[in-house]
Amino acid sequence: MSKNKNTMKTPKFNTYWIYAMIVLFFASTYFIGGNETSNSSKKINISSFERFLNKGEIKSVTVINKNIAQVTLNRDALNSPDHKSANSTNFLGQKNLNGPHYVFEIGNLELFQNKLEEAEKKGIQFGYDFKTVENKLLDYVLGFLPLIILIGLWFFFMRRMSGGGGGGSQIFSIGKSKAKLFDEKSDIKTTFKDVAGLEGAKEEVQEIVDFLKNPTKYTKLGGKIPKGALLVGLPGTGKTLLAKAVAGEAKVPFFSLSGSDFVEMFVGVGASRVRDLFKQAKEKSPSIIFIDEIDAIGRARGKSNMTGGNDERENTLNQLLTEMDGFGTNTNVIVIAATNRADVLDKALMRAGRFDRQIYVDLPDVRERKEIFNVHLKPIKISKNLDTDFLAKQTPGFSGADIANVCNEAALIAARKLKKSVNKQDFLDAVDRIVGGLEKKNKIITETEKKTIAFHEAGHATVSWMLEHAAPLVKVTIVPRGQSLGAAWYLPEERQIVKTEQILDEMCAALGGRAAEKVMFNNISTGALSDLEKVTKQARSMVTVYGLNDKIGNLTYYDSSGQNDYGFTKPYSDVTAEIIDKEISNIIETQYQRAIKLLKKHKNKLIELANFLLEKEVIFKEDLVRIYGERPFEIKTAIKESKK
Ligand code: ADP
Ligand code: ZN
Repeated sequence: MSKNKNTMKTPKFNTYWIYAMIVLFFASTYFIGGNETSNSSKKINISSFERFLNKGEIKSVTVINKNIAQVTLNRDALNSPDHKSANSTNFLGQKNLNGPHYVFEIGNLELFQNKLEEAEKKGIQFGYDFKTVENKLLDYVLGFLPLIILIGLWFFFMRRMSGGGGGGSQIFSIGKSKAKLFDEKSDIKTTFKDVAGLEGAKEEVQEIVDFLKNPTKYTKLGGKIPKGALLVGLPGTGKTLLAKAVAGEAKVPFFSLSGSDFVEMFVGVGASRVRDLFKQAKEKSPSIIFIDEIDAIGRARGKSNMTGGNDERENTLNQLLTEMDGFGTNTNVIVIAATNRADVLDKALMRAGRFDRQIYVDLPDVRERKEIFNVHLKPIKISKNLDTDFLAKQTPGFSGADIANVCNEAALIAARKLKKSVNKQDFLDAVDRIVGGLEKKNKIITETEKKTIAFHEAGHATVSWMLEHAAPLVKVTIVPRGQSLGAAWYLPEERQIVKTEQILDEMCAALGGRAAEKVMFNNISTGALSDLEKVTKQARSMVTVYGLNDKIGNLTYYDSSGQNDYGFTKPYSDVTAEIIDKEISNIIETQYQRAIKLLKKHKNKLIELANFLLEKEVIFKEDLVRIYGERPFEIKTAIKESKK
């Protein structure tokens, strides 16, 4: 996958340039500062100096910083051949008449002074003085030190932020988007064929493909091209793959990045990256922008606003919304975002004209897992009698990515054993290995758990099938989905007024899961929390809101103005509170017993259904009809059926 990646063109500014500039700067200061100790003077030792001194050839001596002496010769000495080398011409062709002509280290200052005094006593004529010269180089360095430190720090952070280490620094692209571009000509070869299962999701994105391929067909009729779609599903379920396949099918460029790529410690960076990303995408339009983990920027605003970091995130999110709103109908840039938590996203993201389509990408069921195996087994040399049905059955709860992993791992295991092909045992070993990893992440369901879930869901299905007013079932699955371990889909009738029997039937169906666990295992699990929550709310509103309970009577404690948040002070007396509590629990208990009675009566069929569910993981209305026969009563409302 990585070999197709193509980093987008960002102005690469080599850091070495800056280093070179700094070195040059210091070099120049060195030369400026260094002139004082004259490079043109020749180095001698102290005995030569003594010789020159005693010969009377010296005009003056200057001792600098108590350790270096600069010697200037007099006119006569300069003409003597002895000092020819000291009197050489400098690089400008001028004779160095003014000196200093020699330098030497004086060693011990006192001894040196004594020597000079002795010479004076002998009557030799020369001048001497002491000078303190600041080291200009050091001065320069010290003078610029704060600036140097600042520049250094700046570099440090910039490098760290732009991911550092990886070759040339990208400090000048901090506000640029970090999107990877998959170009249509060379890179994207992913098509729907590479995406196994996910039929429903594929069907829904097919429309986007059509739009991108042939936008005028839609715009001619006044239709608006969709701007965004949100893929919702657990990690590894193929969201990225699906988005890439859309780009591949439509043959358009694909910009891929993660929500966290926008987040940076500097204010305004995220927003400017969003701007840059959209600018590039528009230049290449029609194109697709894929934002993985959109929750990194798309979390609901205004919540837990404790740190300043949130403001920056909000700015980024606002910029994203602005960009999406700013699309003309002819821009042809479609944003596909992925998340596994649609519930935490800001509602503004979901508004019409933004990510108004939500496409669920669920974990695969047995049949889909088999298809995914078939996709990933293609490049692998497998033994002839490998049974993919068997493999699919061995991998409940696995995502597409987990299965891809299993195939790869199995090939590695077989290779380690120097086999010619990969066989069943290699796959089982690979599954074990992957399960180990998944167990740590708490993603694996044990056999008993799976059985409990199957009976629970079968209980819901059975009760709702048997009750006249409960919503009819469309689909039941025991494949984990988001936070829940299993799920049942019903087709609720659309109704404005709900009758008491309808509420009661629905409550009974909602308790059917828990009741099935009780009937089958005489044991109930914690897995029914959301059922209980729903039922309790319904019962409470029957009693306190809709006046459907004869003990409380025809009154409501509901305040439509919404101004009375009663909080701790209830609008009723303690006696009434007791009655309310009792009535709520009565209603729920009655429905629970009703569900239990019903399930006991149909226990054999419940078991048949649960076993079928265990085997297939997903069942549809037809399966219920097969087991239970048509619903035992006429359904008055026409129900549009949708099978996905
Ligand atoms: P997500 O974006 O949902 O986290 P990815 O799309 O990155 O998951 O999936 C990771 C890998 O798992 C893919 O590259 C592919 O190899 C494999 N994969 C996942 N789902 C499927 C699928 N439905 N069909 C084939 N391969 C899949
Ligand atoms: Zn339930």
